[in-house]
Amino acid sequence: MSGEKKYYAPLTPSIIIEFDPNVCDGCYPTFREPLCVKACRMDILLPNPYDRSKPPILIYPDECCECGCCVHACPKSLQGAIKLNWPTHKLPRWKRKETGEHFRVGMPNPPPPNPTPPVGGWYPEVKRREER
Ligand code: SF4
Ligand code: SF4
Repeated sequence: MSGEKKYYAPLTPSIIIEFDPNVCDGCYPTFREPLCVKACRMDILLPNPYDRSKPPILIYPDECCECGCCVHACPKSLQGAIKLNWPTHKLPRWKRKETGEHFRVGMPNPPPPNPTPPVGGWYPEVKRREER
């Protein structure tokens, strides 16, 4: 094994922020830090750890609040350097039809159905089913 450092971004179900490597130059060498990285209010963009003149990387994509500040800050966004795939809805959930419960995709072992009605009552379709 070589001593080369490797960086891995977490897997994500959808691509929220997309960079075009043919347009984005990492704001290098004009700016000390990529403007999109500086603008990110959630601090989840990092300058490219391999090559500073390449697009930044998005870490923790599920923490992106979809504010669009990164795109707004980019001087080349109109050329497509960075794009926000909106609406992203990168936190897909699935719903148990019987009860209306929602679960995150990837939950390895969803809990058994919860028979307690939600505060606002069951969804109308569940209520109808219960009354039958
Ligand atoms: S996407 Fe825009 S702001 Fe971000 S590094 Fe590339 S050129 Fe700079
Ligand atoms: S949309 Fe907002 S939170 Fe998401 S990467 Fe861009 S600046 Fe950060």
